[in-house]
Amino acid sequence: MSIRIVGAGLAGCEAAWQTAEHGIETELYEMKPARFSPAHKSAGFAELVCSNSLKAERVESAAGLLKEEMRRLGSLLVPCAFACRVPAGGALAVDRDAFSQMVTEKIRSHPLIHVHTGEVLTVPHGGINIVATGPLTSDALAGEIFSLCGGSLSFYDAAAPIVTAESLNMDRVFSASRYGRGEDDAYLNCPMNKEEYEAFYNELVHAERAPVHGFDTADPKVYEGCMPVEIMAGRGADTIRFGPMKPVGLRDPQTGHRPWAVLQLRRENAEGTLYNLVGFQTNLKFGEQKRVFGMIPGLEHAEFARFGVMHRNTFLNSPEVLSPDFSLRSDPGLFFAGQITGVEGYMESAASGLMAGLNASRRTAGEDPLVLPETTMIGALSRYAASGGEGPFQPMGANFGILPSLDEPIRDKRERYAALAERALKDLEKASGDCARS
Ligand SMILES: Cc1cc2nc3c(=O)[nH]c(=O)nc-3n(C[C@H](O)[C@H](O)[C@H](O)COP(=O)(O)OP(=O)(O)OC[C@H]3O[C@@H](n4cnc5c(N)ncnc54)[C@H](O)[C@@H]3O)c2cc1C
Repeated sequence: MSIRIVGAGLAGCEAAWQTAEHGIETELYEMKPARFSPAHKSAGFAELVCSNSLKAERVESAAGLLKEEMRRLGSLLVPCAFACRVPAGGALAVDRDAFSQMVTEKIRSHPLIHVHTGEVLTVPHGGINIVATGPLTSDALAGEIFSLCGGSLSFYDAAAPIVTAESLNMDRVFSASRYGRGEDDAYLNCPMNKEEYEAFYNELVHAERAPVHGFDTADPKVYEGCMPVEIMAGRGADTIRFGPMKPVGLRDPQTGHRPWAVLQLRRENAEGTLYNLVGFQTNLKFGEQKRVFGMIPGLEHAEFARFGVMHRNTFLNSPEVLSPDFSLRSDPGLFFAGQITGVEGYMESAASGLMAGLNASRRTAGEDPLVLPETTMIGALSRYAASGGEGPFQPMGANFGILPSLDEPIRDKRERYAALAERALKDLEKASGDCARS
């Protein structure tokens, strides 16, 4: 028996790797390069559509713990990410092209994975299937999925621009990581004094935005963690100075002082020829991005390799329809994986793909699903998708707030996170060991 998987993004690739590594013939359907979503640009699998950061690396951080749990469960993407990393201080950032290329090669060369190119128009039925078509699922399939699952929820997600290194004015830019943590060449910093910041801020909040279908700027349902910089700026003159432009932990070598505000540029590729504007996801018109971001010292003549864009990001009302193993309650042979299940973020999407792939394999073998304990980051995310939280269902990324408290409270945050991570990994070993023995 084979398993069909639709979508070779982050979740679909992890799912396919799991099913194939469990010895199951896997039919993987991907519409690229025949058709591209508005945010996807390259033909490769596991494309990162915005930032090249997979967030923190330390196991004692929520994002680091998630990656460590995935690694222990046999993830494909986590080792590929480490192999394609570029300097990024305490974060794991990757050369997005090298990363996608490596994942694509691994998937295409697996003897049990058979890749089919073309848009899938209907939800697969019969046998075991996984739908991992992401927040930008093509229209025909999205229509069917959402009528099958009783409608959809959505918000808006934006991507940040990327500029070429050679177009930067290096007389104004300095390289340094915040507080000297990590490699100094990971970030370039564009420092601003008070006057420069105020002039920039004034233009930013008045700049012309690109129209987005159905987007009401009076009540923008944007994801707080990926909010367009101009919308964040509209909340107050200092909001971005305490957000993406915070100058803490940095000293401008030209003045010897902490700047009033800083834009950080993070390396995009191993060669260091491209940099992205950290936290500057935006929906400004392209000409306005050039004009307004060009006011930032160092970016006066910046050449944009990619402009920022904003897109609708659609997901299921999962607590109404999904089980914690990511299968549909009304059809246990049909699994969903990735951002469409209401997890938020690259690695969270991949983790749900891993679990959907693993449980689809177990179902094929007639075994009970593996639902990890909620003390693990993946277990907590799975339960969140299946049960939701307080109030209307909102996408959720990895964070320690979704794990149950420790039996013995620890006041110090670092120590508490370390204890939560230790408990998670211990419980993960036990659950996956028990499951391997069953
Ligand atoms: C604009 C935008 C910016 C984002 N920025 C970030 C960020 O900076 N950091 C972060 O952590 N997360 C970000 N996200 C959220 C999320 O992490 C990503 O969307 C992530 O790629 C989701 O993984 P996925 O596997 O669910 O979907 P995807 O990676 O999008 O994969 C889905 C795949 O399915 C294919 N597909 C779609 N429809 C069909 C069909 N009908 N037939 C066949 N194939 C199909 C697509 O071509 C794609 O390859 C962003 C999302 C958006 C929309």
